[in-house]
Amino acid sequence: LKLRSAEFIISSTDVSKCPDTDKPEFAVVGRSNVGKSSLINMVTNRKSLAMTSKKPGKTQTINHFLINDDWYLVDLPGYGYAAAPGKARSAWNEFTKDYFLNRKQLVTVLLLIDASIAPQEIDLECAEWLGENQVPVSLVFTKCDKRKKTKAGGKHPTENIADFESMLKETWDELPPKILTSSVTGTGRHELLSHLSQLRSF
Ligand code: GDP
Repeated sequence: LKLRSAEFIISSTDVSKCPDTDKPEFAVVGRSNVGKSSLINMVTNRKSLAMTSKKPGKTQTINHFLINDDWYLVDLPGYGYAAAPGKARSAWNEFTKDYFLNRKQLVTVLLLIDASIAPQEIDLECAEWLGENQVPVSLVFTKCDKRKKTKAGGKHPTENIADFESMLKETWDELPPKILTSSVTGTGRHELLSHLSQLRSF
């Protein structure tokens, strides 16, 4: 899959306002700071297609980017900003759930996981939720370039990925596909694009 063009189309505040189109789409989702904007910019070869100035508290929107005039990358709100103590930690807000369950054009969710840190409960919960609701998901591990910290406790990205997968294995019969990426080195860009093209068989 060659990337010829990438353009921002629209920010929507709910699913009913998303583009009315038959073109297939892939949603990108993950914890705030997971590297979602960087990944979208890396994949599309654009410095600032995905706005890097996302501030907490800003209106959360579903953002459609049209690729090659043919399919969409959809940037969903990051989760896990203010996991209010005591509050039931359902990571997805209502319109994100609505999008996952009702957006007919959705081919697969790309769930971004930070490979530079240990498995996070909230990411596992999100993977579980998608699995339980039969939403197709691929795991995209980010920041795979980051080396083990010198401080005690830090693990190498490959170990964090293995840990995440073994935790998922407790409930998943078959693990979802995974792609290892780095927005710093460009690792995984080609793999990710060919993965997407396989999923929708261009
Ligand atoms: P978002 O909140 O998920 O959109 O995350 P950003 O794309 O804004 O990235 C969050 C932080 O992680 C920034 O400081 C990035 O420079 C850093 N970052 C993102 N991707 C990578 C990566 O692949 N490798 C490394 N080392 N840092 C990254």
